[in-house]
Amino acid sequence: MEKKPYVLPQLAFAYKDLEPFISETQLQLHHQKHHAAYVSAANAILETLDKNRNEGIDGDIKALCKAFSFNAAGHLLHSLFWENLAPAAMTTPKPQGLFAKAIDSEFGSFERFKKEFSQAAITTEGSGWAALVYCRQTQRPLLMQVEKHNTHVIPMFRVLMVLDVWEHAYYLDYKNDRAKFVESFWNIVNWAEVNHRLEAILK
Ligand code: MN
Repeated sequence: MEKKPYVLPQLAFAYKDLEPFISETQLQLHHQKHHAAYVSAANAILETLDKNRNEGIDGDIKALCKAFSFNAAGHLLHSLFWENLAPAAMTTPKPQGLFAKAIDSEFGSFERFKKEFSQAAITTEGSGWAALVYCRQTQRPLLMQVEKHNTHVIPMFRVLMVLDVWEHAYYLDYKNDRAKFVESFWNIVNWAEVNHRLEAILK
């Protein structure tokens, strides 16, 4: 089978299109520098593993696994994040379709979901993410905090939507005011994509 490297995905919108909620400079830096760094680091680790195997070198498996988990998860989470964002003019203020029903059923109302998701994002310790995931066993959408990119990730939970709350995601625009960034996020959620993800999981 042909081995493929990880690739930095193109965004579905221009860097300036999320303004005034995320500035062009902030988004460009986040995508071209931060996300790109996780892609190249994950690829470099795979190259090291290949090289070690080809040359019969043991390598530091523990360190390589840990770094791989961090960087690959960083790449995948950012990819999901960009896709669950949309320019404010292109999206709706509230969830749509099946996803809207699932939110009402789990949280009682969109407002309650928004409040809990925001709180999960604001209180994530250090660098991390708020995530809404779908649990197949309980058939419930559940909130998670992900520290760094990979700590607390539960296998088999499918991501419906994520919000990056690393400082690199908002510091240029919001300084240390993470809560203000989280509030802005609600203007640029791609609800159609989030709904599409839920439908794909349930199909
Ligand atoms: Mn990030």
